[in-house]
Amino acid sequence: MKIGCPTEVKTREYRVGLTPHAAREAIAHGHEVLVQAGAGTGAGFSDEDYKEAGATIAADAQAVFEAAEMIVKVKEPQPKERAMLRGGQLLFTYLHLAPDPEQTDDLIRSGATCIAYETVTDARGGLPLLAPMSEVAGKLAPQMGAWTLQKANGGRGVLMGGVPGVGPARVAVIGGGVVGTHAARVAAGMGADVTVLDRSLPRLRQLDETFGGVFRTSYASAGNTAELVAGADMVIGAVLVAGAAAPKLVTRAQLSQMKPGAAIVDVAIDQGGCFETSRATTHDDPIYDVDGIMHYCVANMPGAVARTSTIALGNATMPYMLALADKGWRAACAEDPHLTAGLNVHDGRITHRAVAEALGRDF
Ligand code: NAD
Repeated sequence: MKIGCPTEVKTREYRVGLTPHAAREAIAHGHEVLVQAGAGTGAGFSDEDYKEAGATIAADAQAVFEAAEMIVKVKEPQPKERAMLRGGQLLFTYLHLAPDPEQTDDLIRSGATCIAYETVTDARGGLPLLAPMSEVAGKLAPQMGAWTLQKANGGRGVLMGGVPGVGPARVAVIGGGVVGTHAARVAAGMGADVTVLDRSLPRLRQLDETFGGVFRTSYASAGNTAELVAGADMVIGAVLVAGAAAPKLVTRAQLSQMKPGAAIVDVAIDQGGCFETSRATTHDDPIYDVDGIMHYCVANMPGAVARTSTIALGNATMPYMLALADKGWRAACAEDPHLTAGLNVHDGRITHRAVAEALGRDF
């Protein structure tokens, strides 16, 4: 199969859909790989790296879209990319169609077969192509929170690990899933005093068994949450209710109970955020102040560490990409219902029930 990887065109997107390692594996499986010139630059991969892996470098996106039978990307195709898709072509990337009727209509019109990373499932009920980005955002959250806490950034001027004779920062992590666990581990590793809150007792038990002694756990009742938020130097929002907007767990009134200059890192902002005062920010202007509390609410945190994120995403997508290329999408999906769960649009119609329902369309 001819596999094409164009340069990402969304603003400040530095990741790339195929790493040179993934290209090398696809070529070893007998496929041709076409990579747009400069596609890997933002993630630290040169055209030479791809050439060494056996890929061909294409001058522009047009050449990639014209030649490729399967397009592998990171972000949802932008309007000018959608215009280049054609019937029978396979698109494998993040799509996030539910809130995006314009993109959905363009993909329907294109006639392409579109498999979305974010709806591919696994046997444990997880989302294996979303998890690596949650791992990245979770590990990044205390790092960005520590920066937000610095005095020059409007923060409280507290060092995460303290020093001999001065206590560490107190960190409350609301939500103990993939993001929350990774955030808590890093915050504890920086020397902070960390508590993870979750609504799921089985999850709290699991965390306690694995990380008891590294961080504490607490049941996320409204009372416990309010108490821990009020005493914290940093609060990390990491809740997820699948398919729904994030619940607002901290109100504006509660900010006045918090320590002046405390930092909020709302990782759940891509689902609307779990603080009443959260609004999405960008890497260019990531933090803002509400009532003396500093908010960091970047909706695409993994973009800040494009190289790590690209490699992590590539590790997760590679087996699926190879299955699609080796067997063709029909046979690959027939063999793997979890990959079928990724099928969002095919042959001019929506093929994913939740996406159709979210958009109020026929399924
Ligand atoms: P997850 O499903 O692994 O974990 C979510 C956890 O929240 C679960 O353990 C669940 O029990 C808990 N929870 C649900 N409701 C709760 C409540 N009311 N109080 C306390 N805990 C509650 O999800 P995840 O992969 O960790 O993702 C968390 C959030 O981070 C999602 O909104 C995801 O979209 C977002 N995210 C954002 C970025 C970014 O760049 N901003 C990147 C990756 C993920």
